[in-house]
Amino acid sequence: MSIINKLPNSVANQIAAGEVIQRPASIVKELLENSIDAEAKNIKVIIKDAGKQSITIIDDGIGMNLEDARKCFSRHSTSKLKKAEDLFKIKTMGFRGEALASVSAVTEVVLKTKSRCEDFGYELKLKNSEIIEENQVNTKDGTTIITKNLFFNIPARRNFLKSNNIELRHIIDEFIRCALSNNNINFILINEDSEIFNLKKSNLSKRIISIFKKKYEKQLISCNEKFGAISINGFIGKPESAKKTRGEQFIYVNNRFIKNNYLNHSILKSYEGLIEDKKIPFYILFIDINSDQVDVNIHPTKTEVKFEDEKLIYSLINSSVNRSLEKYNISPSLNFDADINFVKKAVVNYDQNINASKTISHLEKKTNWDEIFNKVKIENIDNKLFDINNDDEKDNKPVQFLDIFIFKQLGEKLLVFNHKNCQERILHDKFSKNTLSSYSNSQQNLFPQYIEFNSSDYEIIKNIIPDIRSLGFNIEIFGKNSIVINGIPTGLDDINEKEIIESFLEEIKNNNSDIKAEKKKIIVNTLSKKARITNNKKLTLEEMNSIIDRLFACKNSKYSPSGKQNYIELGIENIENLF
Ligand code: ADP
Ligand code: MG
Repeated sequence: MSIINKLPNSVANQIAAGEVIQRPASIVKELLENSIDAEAKNIKVIIKDAGKQSITIIDDGIGMNLEDARKCFSRHSTSKLKKAEDLFKIKTMGFRGEALASVSAVTEVVLKTKSRCEDFGYELKLKNSEIIEENQVNTKDGTTIITKNLFFNIPARRNFLKSNNIELRHIIDEFIRCALSNNNINFILINEDSEIFNLKKSNLSKRIISIFKKKYEKQLISCNEKFGAISINGFIGKPESAKKTRGEQFIYVNNRFIKNNYLNHSILKSYEGLIEDKKIPFYILFIDINSDQVDVNIHPTKTEVKFEDEKLIYSLINSSVNRSLEKYNISPSLNFDADINFVKKAVVNYDQNINASKTISHLEKKTNWDEIFNKVKIENIDNKLFDINNDDEKDNKPVQFLDIFIFKQLGEKLLVFNHKNCQERILHDKFSKNTLSSYSNSQQNLFPQYIEFNSSDYEIIKNIIPDIRSLGFNIEIFGKNSIVINGIPTGLDDINEKEIIESFLEEIKNNNSDIKAEKKKIIVNTLSKKARITNNKKLTLEEMNSIIDRLFACKNSKYSPSGKQNYIELGIENIENLF
């Protein structure tokens, strides 16, 4: 006797629905995508009891005629795909013809739809995947879908749903993802009679601001890159706006929101050293790529994609984010970018010595600033930011405040530098260069310092000796489990060698990394932190000028390696507001 039965449709649908519909937010996502594919210009979502009681989506899209309204709930029924090859040139959000079949398997559905080409609309009611009622109705063009009592027929799954707060959060997340990538559509989201979002059609930056509030206006840096047929466009957040919580990171491929840790990593890598540990920046990037170079049919929810050349996408994103950050970091908002190359050139010669002030005459420095102002003046001819004929500008000297801050007027802005953070950045960049040959940047110790370790620490130190040397330490192995330090990097007069070497060891142990590049990074970070000149140090005019110049020669002049701001800019309006 045969023991194999064909499962009834409703059961097969229920099983299959498990993959597509995990929670109320999955329904919101699928229905929103259908409305977008149906060319809707206005989409309204109404939520009751976090979607557990009902989810209603109203659109003004192309609608369906009676035949399609009946068909759309059958599994694998779609108007978006006709033959196998179409899978490789998908332009719509949907294509698998599964969503409505799944929705009707796990909720009670009411569909009201009217095609633009028909005089009447139709209302269909479904339960357990079966049409139980069908009426001709008077209704506007477009489609309304109401899904009620989610998982009414699968109590186990209904019990599995999370609290209303959490489920609503998921719904809002899906809503935002759709709204961000479709800024040409008006969206409304209503929860229990209160309007959470009412988003008017606009450009991307305005859409971002209307979703995430006004303060984002000042936090966005645009990001654009093109390589052959691949383009990347969007915005990234300024490093100082990074947050400890996730949720504001968006990557889209051909307008489809995707989750991809590898690509997330390429963005975070660019922010390394610019934001504090564990913080994560805002970003929204749209990758446009030929649809034959990406496979979106990996998973029923379609948030995973497979690229033909993922490494290429990784490096394109990385370089475009790097470039945007660099442009922003080295340029205070005052069109200051024009002069940066000048400063860079000017300081290159004396980048060798931390006490640059000793080797550079004040005269030379002054000329550099003059050149800078000249150049900026040319670039900003209309803005009249700088007046080079004005002697005040030429003699505009930095001043130290409380031995902690340096004030410097630049055009109509006052730059306030945090001396300690600036030093950390300058030293960090100097030490990271890795071009220092063994001893050329060393200054000889009067008395060699001997340090003895236990055997396991000695193994670690032995491994990192080449890295330590590359910073300018004259360091040798000395007998069993010991080293000797004969010289330290130039400019580091006040350091305790033993303490520094021990802190290298400590940090390497704490970070427990086996990657060579990581170790070097840890050593550089530790040294720039330990070696930076402490607060409360009186600086000469030359020292202040040198610090400012050297800072702007750094790649990330705006932030210290631990993510603190090196300087702030105060414009007239900021200062006036204080009165
Ligand atoms: P898919 O989106 O993958 O095609 P769905 O199950 O989501 O599968 O939808 C099935 C079909 O129903 C769609 O292909 C489309 O023709 C039709 N449809 C669904 N929602 C709408 C809508 N809001 N407006 C017009 N047609 C729709
Ligand atoms: Mg769909």
